[in-house]
Amino acid sequence: MPVKKFDVVVVGTGAGGGTAMKMLCEAGLRVCAINSGPRLEPAKDYRLHRQVYDLKYRGFGDPLRLQDKAHQEPYSVEESEYSEGHDLFEHDVAYSNAPGTDWYWKRCKATGGKANFWGRSSARFGDIDFKAADLDGFGENWPVDYAEIAPWFSKAERYMGVASTVQNRPSNPDGDYLPPIPWRCIDYMIQKGAEKIGVPYLPDRCAQLTVAHNGHPACHYCGNCSRGCDVGAFFSPTWFTIPDAEATKNLTLLTNALVRCVLVDENGLAKGVAYTDRATQREVEIYAEVVVLAASCVETAHIMLNSKSRHWPSGIANSSGQLGRNLCDHLYGGPGFGHLPQLLGQPATPDNIADSTVAWMPRWQNLRNPREEKFIRGYSVYVGGGCGEFPGYYNQIEGFGSEYKSNIRRYYPTPVGALIQAPSLPSPTNFVDTDPVKKDIFGIPQLRFHFQWGENELLMWEHSKLMMIDLFKAMGGEMWGADSEPNRPGTSLHETGVCRFGANPKTSVTNKWAQTHDVPNLYICDASIFPSPTDKTTTMPIVAFAMRTCDHMLGNFGKGVHRRA
Ligand SMILES: Cc1cc2nc3c(=O)[nH]c(=O)nc-3n(C[C@H](O)[C@H](O)[C@H](O)COP(=O)(O)OP(=O)(O)OC[C@H]3O[C@@H](n4cnc5c(N)ncnc54)[C@H](O)[C@@H]3O)c2cc1C
Ligand code: SF4
Repeated sequence: MPVKKFDVVVVGTGAGGGTAMKMLCEAGLRVCAINSGPRLEPAKDYRLHRQVYDLKYRGFGDPLRLQDKAHQEPYSVEESEYSEGHDLFEHDVAYSNAPGTDWYWKRCKATGGKANFWGRSSARFGDIDFKAADLDGFGENWPVDYAEIAPWFSKAERYMGVASTVQNRPSNPDGDYLPPIPWRCIDYMIQKGAEKIGVPYLPDRCAQLTVAHNGHPACHYCGNCSRGCDVGAFFSPTWFTIPDAEATKNLTLLTNALVRCVLVDENGLAKGVAYTDRATQREVEIYAEVVVLAASCVETAHIMLNSKSRHWPSGIANSSGQLGRNLCDHLYGGPGFGHLPQLLGQPATPDNIADSTVAWMPRWQNLRNPREEKFIRGYSVYVGGGCGEFPGYYNQIEGFGSEYKSNIRRYYPTPVGALIQAPSLPSPTNFVDTDPVKKDIFGIPQLRFHFQWGENELLMWEHSKLMMIDLFKAMGGEMWGADSEPNRPGTSLHETGVCRFGANPKTSVTNKWAQTHDVPNLYICDASIFPSPTDKTTTMPIVAFAMRTCDHMLGNFGKGVHRRA
């Protein structure tokens, strides 16, 4: 049954959707935001500043909590007993993997989405990324260049608050930064070793507030970030965009509402969405002049693939056949771990500050010549160490009983580990579609993943393992080992593609403003429009591109291309 007509309906309230609803509400439009899960309330949902032994299940959560769920696989760090308040993570809606695919799809269904728990690494993309196809001849360029998007990167950074330094590196354009997060002794030791092997080790760009910013408090370095911040000292929709949108009184926020499809009128244009109310299991329709999808990359494609009509028999806005295609991800894995014996005997101080990506090794390969290495493009590495609350290296040393425990204590200040972030290349065999047979508990066809790592990213993986051997030697460290294989696809949560943008309607789903070529009142505000990943993370660019898309849409409202409801 129709409820009400809005100017815009926004699906998803995460980094992308939250930004869209803030921008549109502040411009005076009446917006209905629809979110698949409950409203996240930090005061009720987070149990921070406690030791694991203070929690009933020692931080792991009730082992029976997923017993009757359709998708029983637990998610990593973010889904723990520290954030077990409401039902924040998606386990009711199952997905499927094609034979040979092992995609790990972690979903936060609460308002604000995954950026309630994200790592906050927030570097700008550059022309080395946007024009990569021109440089190395592979794939498609992005339909924008750096000069065009830079003002929106600045706008996003100034709003979010990103801490870093100016570094003048070709693959990492500098931005508008808060003071960097202070380094620890171990960072200087890693940097010295890295310098010897010609690899940069620099402050990361981190969306964490080193000083009070835009009414948000400075970080107090409690180190709970991946379990959510209870004071809003890093960018998250819960503390930033959602309250901003609500302050305008132009927002209607619907929760526990799982959008199934985009509805179309007699001309095939978007006229609203249909969602399942999780509480009543009823299907409800909401109407609007413009629809924005921001359900997070693959789920946006899922909704579009499920939006079949006589106008759009293979999914809405899919005349190019590119919907669901070009699925990419960051290959993640540990290319090396070990310890610095020179730190043995030093006191164990809680210096794993803020659980954050304090420093990283930004891409250093293929900068002068795009084909210097055996692979094209390039990867970055996060190296970390210091004394975390929990000795994460426990499984890297052998032992049993009290000797094992005292070894863990002895090594506390010394371990160093790394994480590679290597972009996959678009491939015709990596895509999502809907499962022809399997449906979720609401009767919606399941999203199905088809994905394998390609040769290029696997060459980067091998390269990073050799670099770590050199680094440990250069640091005077002792390497204990490396992961035998990369993490499962999906682990990074930086998937891109599936609704790529481009100038040519025959080869892309949206135009350069993220407005679908076929359906001009349907826009996308998430990483599904990015044609290829980079060595950098996606969230700050999602916010920047969403801001740019909304500015373009508001221009269209001004010009009468879109009418107010
Ligand atoms: C532990 C962790 C570390 C991370 N580290 C980093 C990092 O360092 N840097 C970085 O850039 N990124 C990082 N990320 C990834 C980052 O969180 C995501 O890129 C970002 O949150 C994506 O935003 P989004 O709005 O596209 O999607 P989401 O955050 O997933 O939001 C999507 C929203 O849409 C809603 N939704 C989904 N489906 C439907 C539907 N059918 N109907 C209605 N609503 C729906 C969901 O409820 C959710 O609120 C990390 C993530 C995690 C969890
Ligand atoms: S370390 Fe800072 S940003 Fe992280 S949870 Fe604590 S106060 Fe929040």
